[in-house]
Amino acid sequence: MKALTKETQAAITPKGAVELLKEGNSRFIQKMKADRDLLEQVSDTKSGQFPFATILSCIDSRVSSELIFDQGIGDIFSARVAGNFVNEDILGSMEFACKLAGTKLVLVLGHTACGAVKGACDDAKLGNLTALISKIKPAVEAVSEPVDSSLRNSKNIDFVNEVAVKNVKMTIDNIRNDSEVLKEMEDNGEILIMGGMYDISTGKVTFLED
Ligand SMILES: [Zn+2]
Repeated sequence: MKALTKETQAAITPKGAVELLKEGNSRFIQKMKADRDLLEQVSDTKSGQFPFATILSCIDSRVSSELIFDQGIGDIFSARVAGNFVNEDILGSMEFACKLAGTKLVLVLGHTACGAVKGACDDAKLGNLTALISKIKPAVEAVSEPVDSSLRNSKNIDFVNEVAVKNVKMTIDNIRNDSEVLKEMEDNGEILIMGGMYDISTGKVTFLED
């Protein structure tokens, strides 16, 4: 499999980019990884990169976008921060990736059993992590059920996973609200902004189609 070129990148539509990621995740869970020579792709991309998607995921060691979507060198921009939320720096990175480097899709990828989300559910406090976790707390508050406060913590994995989905959706809202560049590109049909959830027990990504 060859690395993307300016021409092959230009031929991919935003919906096509979603399909490429779906196909890649299918290959991953079926043990049908594409035949690619990564060093050859290093050589292919030495004078330029033409990735088709930008993926924001968690730092979790089990959730590497390149691996779980079976992608190679030069295929995707990968932004990672515990809890996969956006701030000014991540938005700037996404704007570079879409407006200047031509990617067709922004995927916000949450995952099950996320430690950062668990921390937000438990109101954990530790050094700089306290400030990071405060960015995820709005998602905890936005999930109204269960009402019983004894069930609203990391021991309740269904609650944790529901907060993780809400966090993905709220992150997408924040991208649209805080990035005029990306909002305009989406409105013009140049990119899609989507969410997904990775199941750490199966390897499968479920896309949140809205
Ligand atoms: Zn996580």
